[in-house]
Amino acid sequence: MTQSCPSSTPSTVTFSSLGLIPELVQRLTELKYSIPTPIQVQAIPAVLSNSSILGQAKTGSGKTAAFALPLLQMSMKGRRKSKDNNVSSLILVPTRELAQQVASSIQNYGRNLLPRLKIEAVYGGQSVNTQMLALRGGVDILVATPGRLLDLVSSNAIKLDQVKSLVLDEADRMLSLGFHDELAKIKSLLPEQKQILLFSATFPEEVKLLADHLLHKPIMINVEKQE
Ligand code: ADP
Ligand code: MG
Repeated sequence: MTQSCPSSTPSTVTFSSLGLIPELVQRLTELKYSIPTPIQVQAIPAVLSNSSILGQAKTGSGKTAAFALPLLQMSMKGRRKSKDNNVSSLILVPTRELAQQVASSIQNYGRNLLPRLKIEAVYGGQSVNTQMLALRGGVDILVATPGRLLDLVSSNAIKLDQVKSLVLDEADRMLSLGFHDELAKIKSLLPEQKQILLFSATFPEEVKLLADHLLHKPIMINVEKQE
């Protein structure tokens, strides 16, 4: 027996071999994403298997697709009950611009699955009433900035007790912008059992503490450190 395992060399990894369904693979071909990036290779199967992950990868490494593709796929399994104002996958981001950008990327990746899925973004600076209407009947994937999310929770526009997956995107920026207390409050509204995906380009002490607090034996993914 040799030790080599040709089928797992990076050059042979395709989006399909990571376990993604044909509708998503087809969309990635349309977008000319020919091969998955290193973080996508590691994160996609882990997320699909419902593991929690702690991912360090620099900006531009393809993190959005790394969590969005498997979450889109999992949302297709009807994780959301349509009656209530529930969320299945909650993605927290530090800024309004990022919320818009991440939501539009997810809609783009999931184009072949729409309109079976509802993907929305909520953030400060836009009318609360418009966002409240958009949340009616629940959302499969919600991208949110922490402050506006809490406003919408307190006005009962959305409920977080059915969240199955939580993503913290750019956790380092979220903490440096002062969202520590909001994150703690949001955590207290989530169910005990959930998948958590925490991504950060850097790991200063406060991010390490947050990760220790949120994650229990996560799968560690360290692709490339930020310069
Ligand atoms: P990050 O969140 O890590 O900064 P993004 O998810 O914003 O990175 O992706 C950075 C850029 O790389 C985007 O323009 C995206 O369209 C592109 N991209 C992501 N994954 C792939 C891929 N597998 N093949 C080609 N381009 C990709
Ligand atoms: Mg990003």
